[in-house]
Amino acid sequence: MIIVPEKEIGALLGRNESYEAIEQVFAAMAAGDAYNFPVVREAIGHADALYGFKGGFDRAGMTLGLKAGGYWPNNLETHGLINHQSTVFLFDPDTGRVKAIVGGNLLTALRTAAASSVSINHLARKDAKVIGMVGAGHQAKFQLRAALEQREFEKVIGWNLHPDMLPNIEEVASEAGLPFEAVELPGMVEADVIITITSSFAPTLMSDHVSDGTHVACMGTDTVGKQEVGVDLINRATVFTDEVAQSITLGECQHAVASGSKTETDIRQIGEVINGTHPGRQSDQEVTLFDGTGVGLQDLAVASAVVELAVEQGIAIEVDF
Ligand code: NAD
Repeated sequence: MIIVPEKEIGALLGRNESYEAIEQVFAAMAAGDAYNFPVVREAIGHADALYGFKGGFDRAGMTLGLKAGGYWPNNLETHGLINHQSTVFLFDPDTGRVKAIVGGNLLTALRTAAASSVSINHLARKDAKVIGMVGAGHQAKFQLRAALEQREFEKVIGWNLHPDMLPNIEEVASEAGLPFEAVELPGMVEADVIITITSSFAPTLMSDHVSDGTHVACMGTDTVGKQEVGVDLINRATVFTDEVAQSITLGECQHAVASGSKTETDIRQIGEVINGTHPGRQSDQEVTLFDGTGVGLQDLAVASAVVELAVEQGIAIEVDF
């Protein structure tokens, strides 16, 4: 069995490798070669923690396993640890033997950033110049860094409920040599691509904040009850997702589906666009929207890539198990 500790991940897995792993697994899902298992998420009644498992099997990539972990809200204050904690376990699909244990914290950030990046590459207009960020927390920095590699962006604009956090994304813009401007939500009409990455339970970005031709990647809503964008925007857009079952239950589309304005069949998997079985964007005026809910197969895909790199570079810890 191989162990890749959390501290090694940063040096092993770059944005390109993450992008490739996520694009491939989305393609495999749409081709019917990979599927996610039902998600388990429990309030365990200790340390206010939410703990659970996300798993799946990718027959194309021969990746089987799960990510175990969750959210411990008091970690930082009490233990000096980050609040989100997760570990990925990979198994040999031929024998069921455990194959690898991989730190899952940075992997989660990288695979989530890669997902919006894949959506931008496949759905945004080629001439996109302005990217708008709704959200400026931990994950926003990862999303923006990965997104900036997909088009020749010339400017970053941002809105956050807590404006004191905006320097987080300003820093990423300046790393890339781009100007940054803080805007109010109506100012988002300037953006050609918008990423929402907040923990909001009420919509903030509405349809009239979004211009025709924009691609919107909604990445924050991963739980029942959360919501970042108005149902009016979902109704106006051509909607894609990682997994339709999650999109309609715990993703951004849960509200439009509950209100009856969208149905399951209106929402397409991004993997169909990658595989060429759906044309994706069909005009420069169309608003496209990606509902990135976060699936277990994404975690397995990046963990599997990390294991390969760790073995290649001689830094995998091998344990006779
Ligand atoms: P964070 O705590 O670092 O940042 C939270 C962000 O949400 C900040 O920008 C904050 O200002 C904003 N916010 C908080 N309350 C808000 C409200 N009521 N209205 C609008 N904005 C509000 O968290 P993070 O690590 O950046 O994660 C952001 C979100 O992304 C979380 O909801 C998290 O669960 C989700 N997430 C999704 C995936 C996925 O695969 N889809 C993966 C990781 C994280």
